Amino acid sequence: MATNPYDWIEQSLETIHRADWYRSVQTIEGRPGAIVQLEGQSLINFASNDYLGLAGDERLIQAAVAATQEFGTGSTGSRLLSGHRELHGQLEQAIASLKQTEDALVFSSGYLANLGAIAALVGKRDLVLSDQYNHSCLKNGALLSGANVIEYPHCDVDALRSHLSQQRDRYRRCLILTDSVFSMDGDLCPLPAILELAVQFSCMLLVDEAHATGVLGVTGAGCVEHFGCTGYQIVQVGTLSKALGSLGGYIAGSAALIDFLRNRAASWIYTTALSPADTAAALSAVKIIQQEPERRQQLWHSVDYLKQLLSQQLPKVKLLPSESPILCFQLESAADALKVGKKLITSGIFAPAIRPPTVPTSRIRLSVMATHEPVHIERLVAALSQVDG
Ligand SMILES: *Cc1c(COP(=O)(O)O)cnc(C)c1O
Repeated sequence: MATNPYDWIEQSLETIHRADWYRSVQTIEGRPGAIVQLEGQSLINFASNDYLGLAGDERLIQAAVAATQEFGTGSTGSRLLSGHRELHGQLEQAIASLKQTEDALVFSSGYLANLGAIAALVGKRDLVLSDQYNHSCLKNGALLSGANVIEYPHCDVDALRSHLSQQRDRYRRCLILTDSVFSMDGDLCPLPAILELAVQFSCMLLVDEAHATGVLGVTGAGCVEHFGCTGYQIVQVGTLSKALGSLGGYIAGSAALIDFLRNRAASWIYTTALSPADTAAALSAVKIIQQEPERRQQLWHSVDYLKQLLSQQLPKVKLLPSESPILCFQLESAADALKVGKKLITSGIFAPAIRPPTVPTSRIRLSVMATHEPVHIERLVAALSQVDG
């Protein structure tokens, strides 16, 4: 008897629904910013990764339009064939200058940068040690590499050390993977201690600065700068699509590393080069990050103000530990998180529920932007106090 081989998909969807894990898209209209239009309703936006408010900045838009006029919409091929433009080189030099590394390489997304770099750096004879809360692309990069992967408990340097003392000798190369700012929690990795272990045990270290670039460090270079680790041999990954307001990803590091990736990173070699518009917008953003530190200061003022109001007015709210503009409060269940997210929308606040399997426990995730005004933060806290009571 012939059964429909796709029947399981609908059954699987039903299971997802029953667990309150079902997800669907919501339409944002108009330009991104501190206020957004969500399906006809005007909401204060605490759901965006656009930390510096650059995704709707006139200068990025003009740079993208000008690049499109001059170079067209598509880059027409991979970088090694017909896709390379002078703009790509300029952006890579700008990123290397921001990160104070010898060179950098831009990919079509941060996800692809991680997949490509990890799979190029390690293979079957090697060991990967990965923080259990790392972003999906670090985990999948490790799987793709074919290396032996050990997940260590979140930010647990002692566990990492003990795995290294027991396992390091059995492998050719070893790569430690960590987010610098954990994207769904907002805490920071203990970078100096991890770097020390990497040096001691002769391991490569890849740090994902997706939520830190433009946000942390005196010049906005990220967590590596924040912790005073600039100049050490670290494979720094990041995205052009969060604080930089565009689309794409990058690796920054030594000239040899970048040269090697141009020859071995499949997700860079076998994919079309970044579009002129995205490249030009990101280049404009890197310059703004370097020239306008006041944006970053404004962001941190807003983060401090929100934390202060929450501790004064809502001492009962359980915030997860955070040292970034990402603030999360935990809820009992996925259903609760959904309910709170919906209630916040009726109060004019856009702050999404984050549920398993993205995270182990359900939560509301708030991300603060440099373009939030004090009144936006005050309205958020007022809305939260209604949910609470
Ligand atoms: C968002 C994110 C990425 C992916 O970056 P994209 O450019 O959006 O693909 C990678 N790592 C972390 C930690 C992220 O939060």
